[in-house]
Amino acid sequence: MAGSNRRAFSRRKFLGALATSAAPLAFLLQARAICGEKGQLVLAPTPAAGEPLKLTPEETAGPFFRPDSPAKTNFREPGVSGIPVKLTGFVLDPKRNPISGALLDFWHADDRGEYDLGGYRCRGHQFSNAGGRYALETVVPGLYPGRTRHYHVRLQAAHGPILATQLYFPAEARNDTDSLFRPDLLLNVRKSASGVVATFNFVLELS
Ligand code: FE
Repeated sequence: MAGSNRRAFSRRKFLGALATSAAPLAFLLQARAICGEKGQLVLAPTPAAGEPLKLTPEETAGPFFRPDSPAKTNFREPGVSGIPVKLTGFVLDPKRNPISGALLDFWHADDRGEYDLGGYRCRGHQFSNAGGRYALETVVPGLYPGRTRHYHVRLQAAHGPILATQLYFPAEARNDTDSLFRPDLLLNVRKSASGVVATFNFVLELS
């Protein structure tokens, strides 16, 4: 369902942009390439083996980042409620090699849409394992004014630059109106017996 909603959303957003385009010819050609001759959505091709992966885009860290978060892979502590999420994936370099030992510092609003500004509830860091994998047990974040649903994360491979970015949920009504939302930062989400499994692979430059 999430996939069909995402496609519907993407096409709706795209056609909205098409209607307001100031460069009709170039935009129509682009529209045809993406939507196809009959308007159906044509998904971007999966990169061929050997083709470099696109770097994960940077987004603002926003005003609620706090340094010195504790090492923590489970945010579901006393006082934290909400739908359980297992957020997991890999940290890769553009050549698809796993990056071990990469720092991932997560923070997000709790299920009431509130950030902990005095402590470290829903805040914590971890390092990717030898296979480049990370895993965080947390909850679906709540909404707060002006933003769609999102997680924040700062990543850094050893000796690499810091990348701040955000992760988004598919089929969220506010994705349409949040200017920070990017479809290439959408989580892949599926229901599990205990809640939700959300996956995202990060691609970092190494230096
Ligand atoms: Fe935020």
